[in-house]
Order: sequence, then C-alpha cells, then structure tokens
Amino acid sequence: MIKAKKRYGQNFLKDESVKSKIIQAMPNDAMPVAEIGPGLGDLTQKLLERKKRVSAFEIDLELCDILKRNFSEAIASGELTLVCRDVLEQWQDLLLPGKYHLIANLPYYIATTIILKALEDTNCASILVMVQKEVALKFASSSGDRNFSSLAILANSIAKVEVLFDVEPDAFEPPPKVTSSILRIQKRTAFVKGKENESGLFDSPESFEAFQRFLRQAFSAPRKTLLKNLQPLAPKETLVAFLQAQDLPQSVRPHQLSIEHYHLLFNKIEYRNRKINNKES
Ligand code: SAM
Repeated sequence: MIKAKKRYGQNFLKDESVKSKIIQAMPNDAMPVAEIGPGLGDLTQKLLERKKRVSAFEIDLELCDILKRNFSEAIASGELTLVCRDVLEQWQDLLLPGKYHLIANLPYYIATTIILKALEDTNCASILVMVQKEVALKFASSSGDRNFSSLAILANSIAKVEVLFDVEPDAFEPPPKVTSSILRIQKRTAFVKGKENESGLFDSPESFEAFQRFLRQAFSAPRKTLLKNLQPLAPKETLVAFLQAQDLPQSVRPHQLSIEHYHLLFNKIEYRNRKINNKES
C-alpha cells in the first residue's frame, strides 16, 4: 500500500457511494474530461466506465507509475491520456486544446487557485470538485452573507454555482482534519464561448481579468467601506454618485452589495478609465 504524501495533499477517496454520487453529478454529454490529481485512479476508473475521454494530470511520479500500469489498456487505446506533471505548470499554456469538463478531488493547498484558473479558462465548460467545506461555501455565498466574497461574485457572474453535498473525513484514507463538500460550477454558454460572449459584460478575457482586479481592490479590506477600498481605482465623487444613484449608504461594506451592483460599478469605472485612456493616446 502506498503511503499518502502530505505535501501533495493526498487523501484518497475510498467511499464507493460518494464516488458514484460525484460521477452522477457530471454533465451527461460527450465532452472530454480533465481530471486533476487522479491519485490511485478511483474516479478515473469510474469516468472510463461512463465512456468519458479523460486527460488526467498527476504530479506524483510514484502514483504515475502505478496509474500507467493499472490503466495501460485505456492509455494504449487513447481513452486515457496521463500527464505526469504539476497541473499548474501545464496550465501556463492550454490545459486542453478544446472544450472540456473539469473534475477533481482537489488537493486543498491549491484548490482556490485551480478553481480560479478554471473560471478564467474559456475552454472549461464546468467544474465539479471536492474542496474543503469553507472554500465551497465561499464560492456559493450570497450578497449579505458575512463570507460573501470576490470569489462568489466572480463565479456567479459567469456560472451557476451549487454546493451539492458534504463528505465526512471517514470517506477518505487517510482522513483529512476537515469536512469536505462537492462544489459544482456550470458556466453559462456565453462565457464558455469566450470572444463570442453575448452578455456584453466580459467581452474579452482581458475584461474578465480587469473585473478580477476590480474585485480584489473592492475586497482589499473586507470590513472597511467600499468607498475607501475603491478610491485607488476611481475618484471619490464618482463612487459617491454611484452609491447615491443606487440608494446605498456611503458606509456600505463590500459584502453588502449585490452582484448586479458590482457589474454596474465595474462598467462605470471601466468606461470612465477607457475614456481617459483614449484621450491620452
Ligand atoms: N483523485 C484521487 C482520489 O479522489 O482519491 C486523489 C485525490 S488527492 C486529494 C489529490 C491528488 O492530487 C493527489 O493524487 C496528488 O498527488 C495530486 N496533486 C497534488 N498537487 C498536484 C498538482 N500541482 N498537479 C497535479 N496533481 C497534483
């Protein structure tokens, strides 16, 4: 039996009913699947049984050797492509060349980074991941919740976000110290198509990145006022005028605004900044 490596966040899912529930929550179409961290290949096996074409990315070379042996037929037939590499290095370029669904029992130390990468990647149509419960709740939180965050605004702006169910530590070997949750993020078609975006909100990958920078600034000090946090990006008068027009007090905190408020304010600031840039050039 292989010894789990803490540095790679290895907790192997052993509970059969949990594995089946995860696979059942996958979209039922023919799109290829990217699996991050196949580990001993338990979910990989179930994906192949469901006739999915899988590309799996595993950092641990010892596990990779086991996977190569156990899945030699699927690798030879092309149903499974195994990439023995840090997925984040791989993702500096395209993760997969065409549209795909992402599935993973994520190593907790890079879970948020990977979800953000997948949100940005317009080839990624949906994300089905096991993460620490707190992380799942952050992505799925709503305006007014104390943990309403830039992550929730970002994800909900382009996708349907749901926490499907919790998974207790005893479902894993070795058991983690925390409860986990299954998080599903299904992107709206407009964003998957990238440049053909119909919503007009993020008409390019650059404007999605600009929205991320804007949200980081808005939540830079989550308990301070939005007015204070956003002043490096826009003059106070512009922000005050926006709050007044939306019937919001100047004391409003970042977690108290709605997602629509953030879209409106972002467009207002972007439009103003673009006008200034055009004048200067
Ligand atoms: N999918 C398996 C399961 O459900 O039992 C294993 C899940 S375990 C929580 C996380 C897996 O991700 C491990 O196999 C680990 O080696 C792998 N991993 C950790 N960091 C990685 C990285 N940067 N790139 C690719 N795989 C990684």
